[in-house]
Amino acid sequence: MIIAVDFDGTIVRHEYPRIGKEIPFAIQTLKQLMQDGHMLILNTVREGDLLNEAVEYCRQRGVEFYAVNASNPDEYGSSNRSRKVNADVFIDDHNLGGLPDWGIIYQMIKSGRPLQPYEGIEQEQAYNYKRKKGFLSRLFG
Ligand SMILES: [Mg+2]
Repeated sequence: MIIAVDFDGTIVRHEYPRIGKEIPFAIQTLKQLMQDGHMLILNTVREGDLLNEAVEYCRQRGVEFYAVNASNPDEYGSSNRSRKVNADVFIDDHNLGGLPDWGIIYQMIKSGRPLQPYEGIEQEQAYNYKRKKGFLSRLFG
């Protein structure tokens, strides 16, 4: 799986442009995800020296990113590409619902739960539900 990870507020406490203290178990979890065969993309607003500092921070702790602010290394230097990184999962403190503990993040990825829409509802039921009900009635019905 391709996992895009934010830096400030996600791997370290948000003290941008400084690098804050590590958020508990962030590095350990990312290393375990790498060992499990996932590919990590660093997805951050940092650029230039500030970006290099973040990449180096992670590298010194054993976390190597497949790509940085890009979907893959082939995109480096290309102006003809989407600003949005292509990933299966995004880990970001600005997620709706906030950033779970890293232990929970690991369990969610391992179990595939973030990839299951309509949790607890059979896919067929969910499809029929969406078809039958209009947008507003789904919101207020
Ligand atoms: Mg952030």
